[in-house]
Amino acid sequence: MGEPDSAKTMGAWRIRGFGGPEVLSWERVPVPAPGPDEVLVRVAYCGVCRHDLLTRAGAFPKIPLPMTLGHQVSGVVVDRGERARFEVGARVLSLIFMGCGGCAACERGNQAGCLSGRALFMGDDFDGGYAEYLCVPDRAMTRIPDGIPLDLAAVTSCTLGTAYHALKARAALTAGESVVITGASGGIGLHALSVARLLGARSIAVTSREGQARVLVEHGADEVIVAPDLRFARRVKELTGGVGADAVIEIVGAATMPESLHAVRTGGRVVVLGNVDGRPSEVRPAHLIMKEMSLIGTKSCTEAELAEVFALVAAGRLTLDITGTRPLSAAADIHREMEERSVSGRIVMRVHGETAPAAGGAR
Ligand SMILES: [Zn+2]
Ligand SMILES: [Zn+2]
Repeated sequence: MGEPDSAKTMGAWRIRGFGGPEVLSWERVPVPAPGPDEVLVRVAYCGVCRHDLLTRAGAFPKIPLPMTLGHQVSGVVVDRGERARFEVGARVLSLIFMGCGGCAACERGNQAGCLSGRALFMGDDFDGGYAEYLCVPDRAMTRIPDGIPLDLAAVTSCTLGTAYHALKARAALTAGESVVITGASGGIGLHALSVARLLGARSIAVTSREGQARVLVEHGADEVIVAPDLRFARRVKELTGGVGADAVIEIVGAATMPESLHAVRTGGRVVVLGNVDGRPSEVRPAHLIMKEMSLIGTKSCTEAELAEVFALVAAGRLTLDITGTRPLSAAADIHREMEERSVSGRIVMRVHGETAPAAGGAR
């Protein structure tokens, strides 16, 4: 049917053990043939996320090995099983989480919230997009509207979609409210600034790096707090008339959680969506009680939210943004640079790009 045939091989970055960037190894593996519900996707772009660094370093030691990382994937369907919902030639992007497909949450398009409690994560539980092709059940992907370039589309689920779900659905942020965003110069943080603006909220961006203040202002932050020592609650209080913020979007996790709980106003919401170093955090029950605060988890986004996000991007009301494009061959170098924290926003790796592939799928 499509190209390439299943006897062909493709290049893929695989990990066979956990460790530094050197455990990423470039290998030739067979191109999988799609099963009845599956699609074979010629990867156009794949984003690099801090989650990938955690997976590679062994933060999730139970994942099956070898594994191909990468959950921010865009591409074109080149082969399909007979029951798959996408036609050959369809432009698709990854949803990150793949649920059971049969529960009430999955049927509503919220696979991250799959009621089985066992939503699978692309690049952790099944092979992801650090490769020339991706073969997955069709429900792991969603359609990219015409007019959205494939490089921007690749990062949408993990950045703008996740931020949209966190600020709109989970924090229920309304016009005129204030919202603190920790880790604001990262891929999700910069997109959260765009969502805050859309919702008419006043954004207070927190970063630990002096050099990131300008990029935050450029991305629409109303206030910027540079806090190399990760102490920002007092400044948030000053900026909010001594009251505290209506909501905090906690992207850093354990390292900034105590300050976030202090920075939110009485009756406010702390929405947790990231935990960069994977450490646990202590929460004092008395603190939650006395402040009547809501502590809310958020994970990813739904297919319907992605469709809304793409429509808002097309209308110029939300901004999708990537920091740079690098070749797939640079995967280990990008991991190194991100560990040195010298990267703001989100980098995507060009695999086949927007153009038609070479015969046989060779890069
Ligand atoms: Zn991610
Ligand atoms: Zn389900």
